[in-house]
Amino acid sequence: ENLKKKIKQMGDVVFQADLETALRYSLKREIALVKSISGEKLEALTKYLKVLVKYFPFGSQGQQFLTQIKDKVAAVGDSVSGADIAQWVSKAEEDGRQVFSSPPQWLACRGSSATFRGYPCGLWKMFHFLTVAAAEQNVGNEDAYPREILDAMLGYIKHFFGCQDCSQHFQEMAVEKDMKSVSSLDSAVLWLWMAHNTVNKRLQGDATEDPEFPKIQFPAPERCPTCKSSDKSWIYPEVLLYLKHVYSSINVRYIGSD
Ligand code: FAD
Repeated sequence: ENLKKKIKQMGDVVFQADLETALRYSLKREIALVKSISGEKLEALTKYLKVLVKYFPFGSQGQQFLTQIKDKVAAVGDSVSGADIAQWVSKAEEDGRQVFSSPPQWLACRGSSATFRGYPCGLWKMFHFLTVAAAEQNVGNEDAYPREILDAMLGYIKHFFGCQDCSQHFQEMAVEKDMKSVSSLDSAVLWLWMAHNTVNKRLQGDATEDPEFPKIQFPAPERCPTCKSSDKSWIYPEVLLYLKHVYSSINVRYIGSD
């Protein structure tokens, strides 16, 4: 109860445990359900694993583990089963490799009951983190591909995300909000922020909304007073700064760190 209160007071903080719990669920539960991954699905999986290897905030053991999964998938040829991938992850855990920093648990993504929040919250946070990591790590790199994360996310959501409605909505939004025209890594960070706010708006007051965590247009004014002008319109450079601060790898917290 105390921890719950403390986490809430910390505001828009990103915890390593939430990112890892989302990643675990994605690999061991969601991808695991797909019997045969081939063709476009296999391409989407490969892109997803590639951005995870590059940008997921793991130490060297975790990065090695993701690289191995990516290489194994590349070696399978035409098709791989989701269950095999889940098995590889379980095996790495059983072998006692220090891949994950903690047992699966939700911290900032914990809902007021088990039916709320959790995985979809963790998945959003993970993809926001990845857009910021890609922008951080490619400063000055003119060859960097601006939609590297957004493309990987769209592929993942299209082919693997278990919530069918959400997947459909997100694919439609990618077209309507012209994801394809995103032409810099910074605008990819902002595109995903805008997309998430569009979803927040649609879900405000919905039965899926956790009463203890109402959907807002993020960030709340008290968290980022400079993000909006006096006429209540967004000041994009300020929003970008705020997102880069919240989702920066140096600000990811471990349990017990404050
Ligand atoms: P979430 O919306 O999951 O947000 C998680 C955290 O991200 C917040 O606590 C906050 O810290 C931060 N955040 C919030 N907004 C922003 C923002 N704009 N930019 C950056 N950070 C932000 N559910 C449906 O019922 N219908 C749908 O169509 C649907 N589509 C979805 C599409 C995708 C791609 C995903 C990942 C999820 C979707 N969901 C959908 C689930 C829904 O969006 C929420 O994830 C879920 O209701 C849990 O909400 P939450 O309160 O934990 O906050």
